[in-house]
Amino acid sequence: MRRTKIVATLGPATDDPKVLDGIIAAGVDVVRVNFSHGRMEDHRRRVQAVRDRADAHGRQVGVLCDLQGPKIRIGRFRDGPIHLEEGDRFVLDASLPLDAGTRERVGITYRDLPNDVDRGDTLLLDDGRIVLWVEQVTGPEITCKVVVGGELSDSKGINRQGGGLSAAALTDKDRADIKVAAELGADYLAVSFPRCAADVHTARELLRAAGGHGGIVAKIERAEAVEDLEEIIAASDAVMIARGDLGVEIGDAGLPAVQKHIISLARTMNRVVITATQMMESMVESPIPTRAEVFDVANAVLDGTDAVMLSAETATGRYPARAVAAMDRICREAEKQPAAMTSSHRLNTRFGRIDEAIAMAAMYTANHLGVRAIAALTESGATPLWMSRISSGIPIYALTPHEETRRKVTLYRGVYPVAFQAESTDHAYVNRLAIEELMRRDAVREGDLVILTKGDLIGVHGGTNAMKIVRVGDMVAA
Ligand code: PGA
Ligand code: MN
Repeated sequence: MRRTKIVATLGPATDDPKVLDGIIAAGVDVVRVNFSHGRMEDHRRRVQAVRDRADAHGRQVGVLCDLQGPKIRIGRFRDGPIHLEEGDRFVLDASLPLDAGTRERVGITYRDLPNDVDRGDTLLLDDGRIVLWVEQVTGPEITCKVVVGGELSDSKGINRQGGGLSAAALTDKDRADIKVAAELGADYLAVSFPRCAADVHTARELLRAAGGHGGIVAKIERAEAVEDLEEIIAASDAVMIARGDLGVEIGDAGLPAVQKHIISLARTMNRVVITATQMMESMVESPIPTRAEVFDVANAVLDGTDAVMLSAETATGRYPARAVAAMDRICREAEKQPAAMTSSHRLNTRFGRIDEAIAMAAMYTANHLGVRAIAALTESGATPLWMSRISSGIPIYALTPHEETRRKVTLYRGVYPVAFQAESTDHAYVNRLAIEELMRRDAVREGDLVILTKGDLIGVHGGTNAMKIVRVGDMVAA
């Protein structure tokens, strides 16, 4: 079984029912609905289709709604894409209508951009493919000299090297979209370009006010967010290493070290982490990944990421199912490396809660005794989350009656959701039911050792206070 989870972005390519079935069969765990593109009715239809097809496959698939955020874009060109040559002058003009771009100038979606930039700044367009040097700012006009040219088409993104743009993280569109995310029952809501912890808290408050229950994912894609990493992680349920925009702001060469740092810090802080963008980029056009992409996915697994993400590869690419299948295959192989399973078990930390202590004890025991499986009887999913922060090769089954919890754990490395209802207060009976459920799934066989964790009071959040080691087939006592 694969431990690392796969997030796939939905889009026109996955609207083909055969393709959608293909990516689910290939093992997608969470789908991303990207509010930067497409209409709301498309997003609604896609989420419904995923839930229907996941049910048909007997699979649990989580839904992550990704807000557009204050992504600054150029406007559109009157006569199609233009070509910029090194040394050309080109004007970003906040006063130009968004559809009136020409060879010489183009509009911008953020009116205040001229106030945020100065002569000598570097602006990067289209994920850094085009580099502009700011020569002068006069009123609404930013006059630039082209440092790296190329083709420039409509609505490409603009970043400032080094960060520092003043746009607030939650736009009016985002505020409206949060309501849609709540309505769709999103399991996760991703906040784009948060600058600080307060942006993350605000998004959570808005989601809760709209009746949404999802976890909040902070996308680390601004230079400021890297500087304020601990606070942003603490404010979030999960973080995404959004390597596209982040690489433009801090420079591509800085990404590998930052990725490793974010993954390690998030895990230490008991948060979930997604590694995103261009993991299988060549598979937008090609049926097989490059060697470099194989290494990238494997290295993210070895860094300890919970999930790896596909963007255009599945949303608009030619081979969505193959991209998922390739990730699946690479993750499984990487997970066989001893480094992916070895843990130092937080030997120097103190545990703050009883359920946390039980989770740590279970993992220490699992990794040192050699058990077949861990069965965490859980309400909120907190115990399996703690467990999955410890590296291990042993599967963690989250047994829960709550669909919300089953969907949430789809993102946790090494955790597998299992629908499980046991309303009895007879512990021996509940234990037996849990083991039988694992046997039905071929997760354990007669003679295997299994670790069970649960609370005395079934139905109580944070109530896990017991760990039991049982041999399948033996009489299970209370
Ligand atoms: P995006 O975020 O795909 O929404 O831009 C991810 C990234 O910037 O890498
Ligand atoms: Mn981004």
